Amino acid sequence: MYHCNASGPSPWSDPPNTEPPGAVPPEQYPPHLYDRVVCELGRGHDGDCADHVGELSPDAQLWVLWEDDRFTYAVLRPCCMSDPTVPPVQQEPCTLYAGHTPGHSWQFTDMLHG
Ligand SMILES: [Zn+2]
Ligand SMILES: [Zn+2]
Repeated sequence: MYHCNASGPSPWSDPPNTEPPGAVPPEQYPPHLYDRVVCELGRGHDGDCADHVGELSPDAQLWVLWEDDRFTYAVLRPCCMSDPTVPPVQQEPCTLYAGHTPGHSWQFTDMLHG
């Protein structure tokens, strides 16, 4: 399984493209390490591309979803599924959001931002 890895300018580098997420005022957005967005979903996914922006609380993550130059912020619950086929000590919870398109984070074999 490979990442979508679609990338482009971010809404925080171009504020007019940003739709406010409602629940979270922009000044509370976690800082993002990159000035471009990179899609963390599986290659060939349906719907919008998605990049994790940061953690708001243990059960709330801020994501930016986009298609072309239309960006939407979304507060989503983490997926947290882990691979049932590996021993519990080696299990890593999925870093994507709950209900993401197929491909948990631990199923990808390529590097994100690669
Ligand atoms: Zn994508
Ligand atoms: Zn997952």
